[in-house]
Amino acid sequence: MKIRGTCQNCGRDFFVRQVLDSGGHCPNCGKPFQTHYTAVLTEALEQAEAGGSALEGALEKLAGMEPNFVLDEETVVARIRAHLEEIRTDARVRADRAAEAAAR
Ligand SMILES: [Zn+2]
Repeated sequence: MKIRGTCQNCGRDFFVRQVLDSGGHCPNCGKPFQTHYTAVLTEALEQAEAGGSALEGALEKLAGMEPNFVLDEETVVARIRAHLEEIRTDARVRADRAAEAAAR
């Protein structure tokens, strides 16, 4: 799975692979995405991509077997969507705080 993100510092998009190659920094502006937990951040990004690929692969295999069942999509994607939303909200709150600080 190729996960794409957007840097909240420079506004440019990146792929997780690029962040792993740059040791947790934005491949465009060079700023660290998390100043204190760079190693943990890159580890989690790597796990997210590998886990996503594993999930995709398993679902593809199941689909190919034409099983006599359906899977509840929400049980697969709801929590994932919630975590992504949490990441988005945290980034927005930080951006707002930075803008307020700059305006003072
Ligand atoms: Zn950047």
